[in-house]
Amino acid sequence: MTHRFDPAESMARARHEFGEHGGVNLSIEASTTFTVMAADEMPKIFRGERGPFSMQARNATGGCYLYGRNFNPTVYTFGRMLAAMEGTEAGYATSSGLGAIASVLMQLCSTGDHIVSSQTIYGGTFALLKEFFPKKAGIHTRFVDITDLTGVAEALDETGAKVLYAETVANPTLVVADIGALAEIAHARGATLVVDNTFTPMIVSPAQLGADVVIHSVTKYISGASDVIAGAVCASESFIYSMMDLHTGALMLLGPTMDPKIAHELTLRMPHLGLRVAEHSRRTQAIAERLREKGATVSYPGLDDHPQHELLKSMANPGYGLGGLLTLDMETIERANRLMEILQNKHSFGFMAVSLGYFDTLMSCSGSSTSSELTEEEQRAAGISPGLVRMSIGLTGSLDQRWSQLWDAYQEVNGKV
Ligand SMILES: *Cc1c(COP(=O)(O)O)cnc(C)c1O
Repeated sequence: MTHRFDPAESMARARHEFGEHGGVNLSIEASTTFTVMAADEMPKIFRGERGPFSMQARNATGGCYLYGRNFNPTVYTFGRMLAAMEGTEAGYATSSGLGAIASVLMQLCSTGDHIVSSQTIYGGTFALLKEFFPKKAGIHTRFVDITDLTGVAEALDETGAKVLYAETVANPTLVVADIGALAEIAHARGATLVVDNTFTPMIVSPAQLGADVVIHSVTKYISGASDVIAGAVCASESFIYSMMDLHTGALMLLGPTMDPKIAHELTLRMPHLGLRVAEHSRRTQAIAERLREKGATVSYPGLDDHPQHELLKSMANPGYGLGGLLTLDMETIERANRLMEILQNKHSFGFMAVSLGYFDTLMSCSGSSTSSELTEEEQRAAGISPGLVRMSIGLTGSLDQRWSQLWDAYQEVNGKV
């Protein structure tokens, strides 16, 4: 029997970084600039002969770190934790998820190049690909239905795209990408598969299924407290180092640098990420099942009537469930808004706010908020109905308490109370 990749085991195998004085937690390297012990070291760093990626420095004896935008050891340690979670050779953290996405795509594409992307992606990424890149950088994107593998292959063939881009579970309609199949299709055509795994940390490990680059908006589940904007890139050592290159690296030159104090704080949240994700999933699964039993129009990849339920199950690492997001279609925007207002203002069930992965429940009406970058037609094509309420289910309170609040509000909207 082959042993499946387990992100928790992989994270436990990674080297533990102790603090300067033997503290159990690592120290914060709060410097933006770093000394060299001999003057002739400096030109060597600029020539790439010495530096954070040389063996000396990795053994922490080189001291050739140069400058904080290029490399910071605390940020690097957080990146190593993320790499361990994804099972990639390397990882590096950024100041935002979108900073990571834009930098990765700029690293992989030049003017005139093409990207093939899922049409159901985060609104900000969609705007970047649809408007910003073609106008500002001459990088063009063909949007496809990511579940139509033949269509994906055709789009790659027709455009000669450098990059195939998808989200593991897509915002907001919870479409699941078949990472293994997409990797095969991309690699057969020399394209790089880039996967945004923001919705499913620990649950799915895209690099183990063939993805070349895995991106996170750390702002969401990894932070878990809606207090920090942050992102990350996990990939091969050579790709991560190329992004940090002093003269040609997008992380170095575009500058989406994470602050080491933030990185330090996030390292303390990684050990319980798996526990949190499992609990978010457990509650979301239960609430989705109860909503379905009551006849509500609920979509959740953990339900067996979700079109990609089996696919996500086959990709998921055991023990973390199938995610903390569900959508509830209230048909009209008025009914959606009413439901959210009752839930927030009467029951304190959760908050009307964008984003996800918070310890409390967050609710938003996707069509008029996080997917408002899409035109009405694009929204229809992506399966976003005007009354679609996206819920990122929290882990506070008790499950029964939260369910009765939700059911109460649902009935009130339907005039049954
Ligand atoms: C939030 C989000 C992003 C953007 O990340 P920021 O940290 O807000 O820059 C990208 N992709 C997905 C799927 C997201 O949910």
